[in-house]
Amino acid sequence: MYKLKSKINKGSILILSGPSGCGKSSLLKELYKKIDNYYFSISTTTREPRKGEVHGIDYFFVSKEDFESGIKNNNFLEFAKVHNNYYGTSAKEVNNALEQSKLVIFDIDVQGHDLVQNIFSDITTSIFITTPSSQELKNRLLSRNTDSDSSIINRLKNAKEEIKHISKYDYLIINDNLKESVKQLISISFAAKLKMKLFNSEDIITSWENK
Ligand code: ADP
Ligand code: 5GP
Repeated sequence: MYKLKSKINKGSILILSGPSGCGKSSLLKELYKKIDNYYFSISTTTREPRKGEVHGIDYFFVSKEDFESGIKNNNFLEFAKVHNNYYGTSAKEVNNALEQSKLVIFDIDVQGHDLVQNIFSDITTSIFITTPSSQELKNRLLSRNTDSDSSIINRLKNAKEEIKHISKYDYLIINDNLKESVKQLISISFAAKLKMKLFNSEDIITSWENK
């Protein structure tokens, strides 16, 4: 697994996890209108693009062979098999964004969350996002109309496992009313940049005393 070059990072990390179809992309789209100095970590995946998804914006869509060579070359900060496809986070871009003091946003599953938390625990804030019920998740996956029946069945099955991990997360958003959930996400994003561990307390104290 990828190893950090330096433990000193100036940026912070915000992880969003939650069942496919709970509304993560919809919420992020609204968040980006309200914050700046952020970097969305574009994952690499072997899954097929959905209608409307763009290579290099939503994901980097690659073949299984290319993904596996990325694993061999240690290109991934973390990767996991989700719904029978590989998904992974490229290390280089994340490190660059952290060096530039950005808020680095991840949309990753619970396995990815555990790995990123292990490496970057001090600077990470995590949110689990879900629908009010499993029935509502099914409705959203059906109305999104981007996945096959078998893929929807697989995603619902996976969601029932994923929700068992919510207690590992710092925050919970139950995405019922989109507008309310966006407000909650914006608040958490601001708080993620104010974590005490992001600051050098000695420097703060010295500067405070000398002014
Ligand atoms: P994810 O990125 O988590 O897979 P999406 O953002 O694609 O989920 O949302 C799945 C579907 O649910 C989309 O059709 C989206 O328009 C819809 N949706 C998202 N949030 C809500 C909400 N609060 N109420 C009703 N529908 C929603
Ligand atoms: P989808 O196919 O619906 O876009 O994503 C399926 C699942 O894969 C979601 O739970 C999403 O958060 C997760 N995912 C997307 N990118 C990554 C990644 O880079 N790493 C990991 N571990 N999970 C990811």
